[in-house]
Amino acid sequence: MNSGETEVDRLDYALALHGGAGSETLFLGRAEKQQYHACLADTLKLGKSVLEQGGSSLGAVETVVRALEDDPKFNAGHGSVLNYDGNHVLDACIMDGRNRACGAVAAVTTVRHPIHLARLVMTETEHVFLVGDGADQFAREMRIELVDQDFFRTERRLRGWQRALNEAQGAEDENSQHMGTVGCVALDRDGNLAAGTSTGGRTLQRFGRVGDSPVVGAGTFADNNTCAVSCTGVGERFIQHVVAYDISALMEYRQLTVGQAVSHLFKSKLPADSGGIIAMDTCGSIAMQFNTPGMYRAAADSAGRVEIDI
Ligand code: ASP
Repeated sequence: MNSGETEVDRLDYALALHGGAGSETLFLGRAEKQQYHACLADTLKLGKSVLEQGGSSLGAVETVVRALEDDPKFNAGHGSVLNYDGNHVLDACIMDGRNRACGAVAAVTTVRHPIHLARLVMTETEHVFLVGDGADQFAREMRIELVDQDFFRTERRLRGWQRALNEAQGAEDENSQHMGTVGCVALDRDGNLAAGTSTGGRTLQRFGRVGDSPVVGAGTFADNNTCAVSCTGVGERFIQHVVAYDISALMEYRQLTVGQAVSHLFKSKLPADSGGIIAMDTCGSIAMQFNTPGMYRAAADSAGRVEIDI
């Protein structure tokens, strides 16, 4: 298992992002690795500039996740995987550490930026979670950007879907499919934490399956008293172990550091090859850990830290 915690004094601002965890990184050529690296670097810079200029952690999280949703290399928005029926169903969640306000959407089919819709659920409704047709209808009412299913599809995802269908004849290999979900955690100059996650789910998923990404406390969580967390991997494992909230609880009730709390989940709860976690505490200390061969990830802070790795 890879472990990556950095202890720092309280920082003005900090940001970490991920682009999914899994085994895909083992098969990337040099040129592809460079492309991922460049994209992570650009997106990190984008998020950092929001915080540098005094923007909110929520704003930075949405900006980063939107950019990754538009990048076909990642399994969120444009470039999402296909489900069993060959359709794209998207999930997202965002959470505000100031007051635990949160918004989530699942199984949306027409929204270019699901993270934006999740934020509108948080700010424009009295609810926290909208799913399926209702969520798409809410998007129409909010007059946000809508797209056809074709918009989400890429040649690469189509090939992956066809291969998976042929090889598995419907029985997904859970350890080979999870890669490319995106997420971000941030601390702003006002000391507020936020977290967001967006995904196209898992290749060949069916029966109305929803993973952990949009589930508050499982794949996404933020609380100014403890931490901000975004997870990626086999959603079922992250829901079972209520991973994001458990990290917060370990910090609150057992006084673990953010790195210790994340390590505890990997050592004691999550089976091998479950996925990865990015988490940040109220000082801007960042933990980025995974128990898969790789995780696309990047982090930056006001002390000059810049880290990009796959
Ligand atoms: N956690 C996501 C899900 O289960 C997939 C991923 O992170 O790659 O839907």
